Amino acid sequence: MKKHNFSAGPCILPQEVLLKASEAVIDFNNSGLSLIEISHRSKSFVDVMDHASALALELLGLEGKGYHALFLQGGASTQFLMAAYNLLENKAGYLNSGTWSAKALKEAKLFGEVIEVASSKDANYNYIPKGFDIPSDIDYFHCTSNNTIFGTQIKEFPNSPVPMVCDMSSDIFSRTLDFSKFDIIYAGAQKNMGPAGTTLVVVKKDVLGKVSRQIPSMLDYAVHIDKESMFNTPPVFAVYTSMLTLEWLKNLGGIAAIEEENEKKAKLMYSEIDLNPLFKGFAAKEDRSNMNATFNLTDESLKDTFETMAKEAGMNGINGHRSVGGYRASMYNALPLSSVAALVEVMSELERKA
Ligand SMILES: *Cc1c(COP(=O)(O)O)cnc(C)c1O
Repeated sequence: MKKHNFSAGPCILPQEVLLKASEAVIDFNNSGLSLIEISHRSKSFVDVMDHASALALELLGLEGKGYHALFLQGGASTQFLMAAYNLLENKAGYLNSGTWSAKALKEAKLFGEVIEVASSKDANYNYIPKGFDIPSDIDYFHCTSNNTIFGTQIKEFPNSPVPMVCDMSSDIFSRTLDFSKFDIIYAGAQKNMGPAGTTLVVVKKDVLGKVSRQIPSMLDYAVHIDKESMFNTPPVFAVYTSMLTLEWLKNLGGIAAIEEENEKKAKLMYSEIDLNPLFKGFAAKEDRSNMNATFNLTDESLKDTFETMAKEAGMNGINGHRSVGGYRASMYNALPLSSVAALVEVMSELERKA
């Protein structure tokens, strides 16, 4: 039986993407060769890289605006240090809205002064700080659009007087935004775009070249832009599969179309959390993530019953992160509405039984 996959990451991918990717591993475009045994410098793979980068910019509405889309390695975690390496000369400002933000902030401190512009740590990150000022004497402002672990999401981005860097690992391509507000956007592929192994980094080129330090080539955005993500051997399978997901998304109607679906899923999920007395949501209502819904049982004695019922109904990956406990339903782009409906059905059945 196919499972309802609510895994927070690596996450569900569209079935047709998995099929095409597995075919390419055996025989890539009827070439008699596997995708993963050909040269990354061959025309067939260079075409894949070019198409993947072009699709990313097209879907984000950033073509012809001075942006470059790179497919790099080392995960979003490498971007924590790479962004600072490339941009931090004196001082940077970070919004501390969750575990990943805090990790990004920690890495940046290796390169200069870092100020915490605002934080929700005092409330175990159950809300998004608002109403803060971004100083104009900092090199850049860094934020995390969606806090995967806590289930909060920035709904309105500040107007930043300085370049804005955003970790969009867990909600990239899930909702329409004015992406041109950002100077650097990065996202580990494994949350909403593809397999683990590559990280999409969208860089506005004119933000670079302002630091005085030497940057090692592998960590230098300018080098990767110049070499079109081919400075060294790229993770070919992860890039190809990400390209397939981006094609799938474009064929569906792009971000606006998937956003509608994502809103339906989130609405269904949160209305059950709010109406069912056996559950309560973790995140502040106005900051609730459309990607990761976090919730707890109001009566812990029902834990085993609920988890057994969920397992029997084919639910996968609904356990919350250890720092929050309870449950987390990750509803990434490829998760069908019917999976959310199935989970909601288990929750309401628990209410009928209890
Ligand atoms: C998962 C996640 C990361 C870490 O990504 P890696 O690719 O594992 O380094 C960073 N930021 C956010 C928001 C995440 O959800």
